[in-house]
Amino acid sequence: MPDTHDRGDTRGKAPADSGGGRTDLRADCANCFGLCCVALPFAASADFAISKDAGRPCPNLRDDFRCGIHSRLRDSGFPGCTVYDCFGAGQKVSQVTFGRSWRDDPRTAARMFEVFPVVRHLHELLWYLDEAMSLPVTRPIHAELRGAFEETERLTMGTPDDLLGVDVAAHREKVNVLLLRTSDLVRASTGGRAADRRGADLIGARLRKADLRGANLRGAYLIGADLREADLRGADLIGADLRGADLGGADLTGSVFLTQAQVNAARGDDATKLPPALTRPAHWSGPAARPAAAAGRAVARRPRPRRGGG
Ligand code: SF4
Repeated sequence: MPDTHDRGDTRGKAPADSGGGRTDLRADCANCFGLCCVALPFAASADFAISKDAGRPCPNLRDDFRCGIHSRLRDSGFPGCTVYDCFGAGQKVSQVTFGRSWRDDPRTAARMFEVFPVVRHLHELLWYLDEAMSLPVTRPIHAELRGAFEETERLTMGTPDDLLGVDVAAHREKVNVLLLRTSDLVRASTGGRAADRRGADLIGARLRKADLRGANLRGAYLIGADLREADLRGADLIGADLRGADLGGADLTGSVFLTQAQVNAARGDDATKLPPALTRPAHWSGPAARPAAAAGRAVARRPRPRRGGG
């Protein structure tokens, strides 16, 4: 189960110097109306045992909005559910934006499902901005990061109409300027070779023991890559596709913009070193485990729901 937090507790608060990973930016399924299990579509594949349209509840979603197969998702053919992260958008939309569930008030269901991905995008940006603010090397741009965080958080507190009117792409572009500056500052401080592999096709690449300190791996396709014992300290991993990548013994401490969903989709072991805001997935134990899903670009950008409970 994800961490829990008090409902609606972000209103009016300034971002905390939390070291990244604020609890209100983590999924709290106990306070969510199962939005990722209803609002998002998925197709039968290695990630999901069945197909489902957007707006239709997954048949495994129980009446109490918990997943009926939570403890056996991988064994039941739903590994895709274990690698989705709403960054706390589920509880925000459920408890702050609406307050009543789509079951209690079906008239709001369609709008709730439209609003959810908007808030999810904004919360993802909040996660990155929070992490950026926690880094000492970004001190020269702290004020700008804090301003962007506060503006983004204000957007998340809007009404459904407000939220549906947000130009997410434009806002993301604006925030990304600061994230790029953060990346430059972090990577310049690592002393590594700082390879620029932004968006690179590294599917299945043999990068065992590679020196990737300070590397720019933004949006890189690292599906199934061998990154065992690689040195990824200070690397920018925002949007990198790590599904099935082998991170056994790799050092990711000090890497930036790595999310729990990316880690959950990869393989690893007890020797893998993660940034402190992230937790070691339960399916990592001993030698690197098998990939969570089949590799392939066709499903690389598809939203994949996850729902704690049970
Ligand atoms: S976590 Fe996955 S399987 Fe469980 S209810 Fe949600 S979508 Fe369905």
